[in-house]
Amino acid sequence: MKKINVAVDGYSSVGKSTIAKRLAQYAGYTYVDTGAMYRAVALYCLQSGEEPLAAVQHITVDFDNDNRVRLNGQDVEDQIRTLEVGNKASQISPIPEVRHFLVAQQQKMGESKGIVMDGRDIGTVVFPDAELKIFLTASPEVRAMRRYKELIGKGVTGITLEEVARDVADRDYRDTHREESPLKQAADAYVLDNSDRELEDQLRELEALLEERRA
Ligand code: C5P
Repeated sequence: MKKINVAVDGYSSVGKSTIAKRLAQYAGYTYVDTGAMYRAVALYCLQSGEEPLAAVQHITVDFDNDNRVRLNGQDVEDQIRTLEVGNKASQISPIPEVRHFLVAQQQKMGESKGIVMDGRDIGTVVFPDAELKIFLTASPEVRAMRRYKELIGKGVTGITLEEVARDVADRDYRDTHREESPLKQAADAYVLDNSDRELEDQLRELEALLEERRA
């Protein structure tokens, strides 16, 4: 069996990380959450007040052995999952220097294959030669509800479904309209609309595809 790279792209709150994590587990591959890397840069900018352009000249972003994202060597996994950091990440992600800084590291991680990486530009920019590219999609309403439940589940209070829906729509717009590496489906991606699909059912379909590609 050969080792391959798997690219998982799609809109926010489409379930990319859940699916990518489970696929990595299934294959015995390493999971890489590129959104966490953009969020870590965003967190640094929010905390320091520094411009992203200056920040990427000297900060480090990587993962520890438990796959938790680190900023300058410090575990920031728990601090990056807020709406504020997510919004900031989506604001700084169009900046070419920010993307080049992170994409270079992502490409290095994939050099020896055996990676499942999720993001927005993995199949188009980071690994254009990935053996398996998956593009996940779901209706904006379904994604807003998922994000809302996730935030409520985390104990976030004082938010409404309308606010979350607006946030999802804003993020979709920014991710698909930026000039540098906008979110778009790779021509050779396998598209999966999971608006009304059970997770296990999606996984069975994708695992079969993975087996096919690494045979
Ligand atoms: O996936 P997540 O919501 O954690 O990503 C946060 C933001 O980082 C996204 O809204 C997007 O703007 C940006 N991002 C990106 N390219 C990636 C991963 C994330 O532009 N590969």
